[in-house]
Amino acid sequence: MEHRIDQLIEHCHVASMSGPGYGAIEDAALAVRAGTIAWVGPRAQAPRFCADEVFDAGGGWITPGLVDCHTHLVYAGDRAHEFEMRLNGATYEEIARAGGGIVSTVAATRAASQAELLEASSGRLARMVDEGLTTVEVKSGYGLDVDNELKMLRVARELGHRHAVRTVTTLLGAHALAPEYAGRQDDYVSLVCERMVPEAAAAGLADAVDAFCETIAFSPSQCERVFEAARRAGLPVKLHADQLSNLGGAALAAHHRARSADHLEYTDEAGVAAMAAAGTVAVLLPGAFYFLREKQLPPVDALRRHGVPIALATDSNPGSSPLLSPLLAMNMGCTLFRLTPQEALAGFTVHAARALGLTGQVGTITAGAWADLALWDVERPAELAYAMGAAPLHARWFAGVRDGAAQDARN
Ligand SMILES: [Zn+2]
Repeated sequence: MEHRIDQLIEHCHVASMSGPGYGAIEDAALAVRAGTIAWVGPRAQAPRFCADEVFDAGGGWITPGLVDCHTHLVYAGDRAHEFEMRLNGATYEEIARAGGGIVSTVAATRAASQAELLEASSGRLARMVDEGLTTVEVKSGYGLDVDNELKMLRVARELGHRHAVRTVTTLLGAHALAPEYAGRQDDYVSLVCERMVPEAAAAGLADAVDAFCETIAFSPSQCERVFEAARRAGLPVKLHADQLSNLGGAALAAHHRARSADHLEYTDEAGVAAMAAAGTVAVLLPGAFYFLREKQLPPVDALRRHGVPIALATDSNPGSSPLLSPLLAMNMGCTLFRLTPQEALAGFTVHAARALGLTGQVGTITAGAWADLALWDVERPAELAYAMGAAPLHARWFAGVRDGAAQDARN
């Protein structure tokens, strides 16, 4: 019996990221039907397919399309000037007086129209898509008032219509204190809880709610208020936790059944154990660690021992991680945090999908998942985390549609 499919991909190896290691299938075949994976396995075991199109992958490796589960891609302005000032010896005070720091990004983002914000963010996302990205999480957090936070989330949604990429949006109203609330932090948290969270939820603009738990941001009890508001609105939570100090953020996130706790440099063993018990994913962000020249390493060994899934992300943002390369983030995860190349790839696929609540839909090459795929000109999957700036992407599929396939048909 012949199986009708849309596309048969052959002459490839597959790192399915399902099962032990890479879930590798050498000399594989992959069948796509209606945007999803209909069959994957060794070519010798493939059933007889009747395919509209057969694609020769040239002997490369196919992985799930990359999933970046933590970005701040939507913002206006840039901070290169501030970077240059700092390296010319300016102090933080001098930079702040010159209008630098997060307040400069907030001012530029508030001043930008939705169209301008979309244009700026779209260019950044295009770079990541060119590197095999097919799913991206995008946070708000530079508007810091109701209208501008919702504007950022609308832009994040719009990015998914403009690019062949899945976007998952996160409301991060509790990112920093809005300047007009100086000295009234609890009032600002009330604005987040009573207006931003319910309005973002009612408009269908937020898939999750995040907060920044840190001495320079919001206290654990303030973050807890945000989590309660998210629960009332029916939205899952996640947390920027323990990046610069240990405030017990990881344990707090776990207590609220957060999908992920992110950064985690200062998380202790008790925090890791709480995450393991709650099924909270650890999202490590080596780009910020690198850019801020941090010294405290996240507790990778404890995460492994407790079986906490480890995701990796770019944390792409103008202040602390102006990073647009998932592959470089994988390399940094290996060089700085001593992850293995297999862990780094799992961090940008299967575990990142879990951090976004998309297990089984993206992040693995398994029957029934979306056919979001990346084909690489590499001899082995470890090359993806090994090489810096190599750009080995050969082809990318989003929901079964290969980039450029429509143009090929016309030419
Ligand atoms: Zn972040």
